[in-house]
Amino acid sequence: MPAQFETFLCLSDNIGVLMHDPSTGATATIDVPDAGAVLAAAARRGWTITDVLITHEHGDHVQGVADVKEKTGAKVTGPAQAMAAAPVDAVIADGSRVAVGNLKGEVHATPGHAAGHVIFHFPGESAAFVGDVLFVMGCGRVSGSMDDMWRSVSKVGSLPDDTRLWTGHDYTLSNAKFAMSVEPGNEDLQKRFMRAETLKANGELWGTTNVGMEKLTNPFLRVKEPVIRKSTRLTESATPREVFAALREMKNKF
Ligand SMILES: [Zn+2]
Repeated sequence: MPAQFETFLCLSDNIGVLMHDPSTGATATIDVPDAGAVLAAAARRGWTITDVLITHEHGDHVQGVADVKEKTGAKVTGPAQAMAAAPVDAVIADGSRVAVGNLKGEVHATPGHAAGHVIFHFPGESAAFVGDVLFVMGCGRVSGSMDDMWRSVSKVGSLPDDTRLWTGHDYTLSNAKFAMSVEPGNEDLQKRFMRAETLKANGELWGTTNVGMEKLTNPFLRVKEPVIRKSTRLTESATPREVFAALREMKNKF
């Protein structure tokens, strides 16, 4: 039976997501920005949280983990870097396997935004939880090395096109505006920009996407496009990684 998902707003712009295995009843929360919001979402669906999967050690992703563990007895799985901020039971790293009931996931190390950042890919569900590596039409801020972030963003982009992505934040309208500023002639992007405006005006969340749509509209996955390279004022000899770094700097100031 395919997994079921519940997506909801936490705090001001964090995306909460639950993944439920109907065959066993197991339910994972990916990060816990706000324990109250996560427990309420589970209660709405009649699900009991059995697992917490942590993408990275930032406070707005782990601050509710201890509370959820205490109230549900859930098993907490996360990178070593999260141990100082959350009660991690099972430490994972690049290449680790995770299971939520019968749903099987793979862990990929994706440093750059945070040293311990990982993504969880569930190939059988065509689903991945990418935390603050990739956002709809954007990518996370870089606290570590730009090379690491470029590799991590590229890793997400290398998943199959039909992979559904759950991101850590809804920064979609702001990302769409930046994307339009570097590639205004992209028709797929124009459509998504209009949709982002409509959703924002209606107070609706937009924090999920898929790899194929991001490859068509996310400038950080389109650094080989000449028009995007030109927007950074780099010459034709610039490498994709250099264009990526320049683009990320431009977004910081946008
Ligand atoms: Zn973060």
